[in-house]
Amino acid sequence: MADPNRTNRTLESACDEARVRYVAAHPECQTLFERAGRHLPGGNTRTVLFYEPFPLLIERAESATLYDADGRSYLDFLGEFTAGLYGHSNPTIRAAIEAALGDGIGFGAPSRLEAELAELVCGRFPSCEMVRFCNSGTEANLMALAAARGATGRTKIVFFRSGYHGGVLSYSTPESPVNVPFSIVLADYNDLEGARALIGSQASDIAAVLVEPMQGSAGAIPAQPGFLEGLREVTRSHGIVLIFDEVMTSRLAPGGLQEKLGVIPDMTTFGKYIGGGLSCGAFGGSGRLMAQFDPRRPDSLGHSGTFNNNVLTMAAGIAGLRDVLTPETLAAVNQSGDQLRERLNVIATHHGAAVQATGLGSILCLHPQQRHKIEQAGDITGSPSARALLQFHMIEHGIFCARRGFISLSLALASEDLDSFSAAFESFVSDYADLL
Ligand code: PMP
Repeated sequence: MADPNRTNRTLESACDEARVRYVAAHPECQTLFERAGRHLPGGNTRTVLFYEPFPLLIERAESATLYDADGRSYLDFLGEFTAGLYGHSNPTIRAAIEAALGDGIGFGAPSRLEAELAELVCGRFPSCEMVRFCNSGTEANLMALAAARGATGRTKIVFFRSGYHGGVLSYSTPESPVNVPFSIVLADYNDLEGARALIGSQASDIAAVLVEPMQGSAGAIPAQPGFLEGLREVTRSHGIVLIFDEVMTSRLAPGGLQEKLGVIPDMTTFGKYIGGGLSCGAFGGSGRLMAQFDPRRPDSLGHSGTFNNNVLTMAAGIAGLRDVLTPETLAAVNQSGDQLRERLNVIATHHGAAVQATGLGSILCLHPQQRHKIEQAGDITGSPSARALLQFHMIEHGIFCARRGFISLSLALASEDLDSFSAAFESFVSDYADLL
C-alpha cells in the first residue's frame, strides 16, 4: 500500500518502496530469474519481456488468468502484446490443435490446412487477394518488403520514427546494428506534409512505405485523420508499394483497421493472433504483387521456411478465424476496450492525475503524463519511475500489464475483470496523483 506519510515522499521514493514490496512478494520468481541468467543473457530470450528488477515468471495460464512461480495470480491485461486475443486455452482452438496433433506434424508437404487459412484471411482483409504464411510478424514484413523491391526494382524503404515492425525492423533505434541494413528514409508519424516532401524528393528510388495504421509498440498512437489517406495518395501517384503492418491492428475490425478506415494498402502484414496464438506471420496483397512468389514463374521470388505451413498453427488459425472470431465477438471486445479507455481517462481527470490512456478498441496504452495529445512517440514524456510505479501497483492488485503501460484485451476477460482493472487504476491515481 502507498506510504501514509505522504509529505516526504517523492515519485522515486514511492517507486523504491513498491519495488521492495515486489521483490519481497516474489522470491521464487527472483531465484528462477537468477538461475536463467546463467545461460540466457539477462535471464531472457525476448527483450521486451525484461523489466527491473526481474520479471514475473509465469508457470501457467487459464482463460484470462496468469499464475506466477510464487503462487500468485493475475488478470492478464497484457494479452501477449495482442497475440493473446483468444485468451488462454480457448476450448475451440485447443480442440483444433489436439485434432491436428492426432494426425501428425511436419509432413514436408502441403496439407489442406494452409489453403483453408489463406481463404479465411483473404475473405476478411480487403487488400489481400493472395497471401503467404511465415513464422512471425517480423518475417511477414521482411517478405512484404522483398515483394515491393521485386515489383518496383527500387531499393529504398520509408519507415516512420519509433515504428516497430519486428526485432530487426525497429525504428525507435534506427541505427542499431540489429536492424536489417536497408537503405531507409525516416519520416515522422502523423506528419503527412513531412512524409510527402521526403517521398517526393526521392520517389524514383523508393520501393515501399511500411506503416502501422496505429503505432502499437511506440505507445498505441492512432493515425490522425487524413494521414493514411495522404500516404495512400502519394504512394499511388509515385508507383510505390504501400504496406500496412496490421500485425497488431488487424484485430480492431473484421477486415482490419484498413477496412474500418476505408484506406486500402497494396500489401498487408499479419502476425500475433492470426495463427490462433501459435507462432505465425502472413503477408498478402494484390494478385499481381503476390504472383511474384509463384514458383512456376521463371523469375519467381523464393519464399522458404520449414514451419511456414506447420499444421498446428494452420489448424489453430483456422479455428480462430472461422469459429471464434465472429464479427460480433470482435466488435464486443473492441467496444469493451473503447469503454475501458474512456473510463480510465475519466478516473484520471477526476483525480487530477497526470495519466492518460491512448489507443483504439481493444489495444490501449497508459501514459503517466499530462493530457496533451500524443500524436508521435516524441510526445511521450512519462518518466520510467512513474511507469514502474504504475506496473508495480497493478501487479500488487492482481493485474498484469506491461511496464510500458501496454494493454490488450482478450476475449476471455469478463466485464467484472474490466471493473477490477478500473478499481486498481483508481486506487493508483488516488494514492499517487500528487507524485505524477
Ligand atoms: N509489427 C508490429 C506492428 C508488431 O507489433 C510486431 C510485434 N510486436 C511485429 C511486427 C513483429 O512481430 P513478431 O514479434 O511476431 O516478429
